[in-house]
Amino acid sequence: MSTFDRFMNKAKDIADLAAHKTNEVVEISKLKIQALKLNNSIAKAYEELGSAYYNHVKFNGSSEMLHNCVAEIDRLLKEQEAINDAMQEVGKQPAIYCSACGQELAHDAVYCSRCGSPVSHVIYATKPGQD
Ligand SMILES: [Zn+2]
Repeated sequence: MSTFDRFMNKAKDIADLAAHKTNEVVEISKLKIQALKLNNSIAKAYEELGSAYYNHVKFNGSSEMLHNCVAEIDRLLKEQEAINDAMQEVGKQPAIYCSACGQELAHDAVYCSRCGSPVSHVIYATKPGQD
């Protein structure tokens, strides 16, 4: 292998690594947006609980409202936990590649961003031709 080939391979490795990092950043960004929306929902749910409690105490409202609010908050907190887990997992996932062109793909990609091949049946767990 010539020095030039070695140089080109190295440059390609660096480009692939950068693409991998980019995909991670994209996935983390999506999860962060979900987390933000969820935080908003949780804040609203607490607000509703406060309002339900106020009505309960002041006007002798039903305690069913309180229980419903608590159940909703529990559900949202569980969802939040799942998103936090998913964010931690992104960094651990192995990269996937298009079998048609070798482009690294986002884990939720439906089509290859480079060649447009549908992703469902064309992914490899490792880069084609590297093992
Ligand atoms: Zn492709």
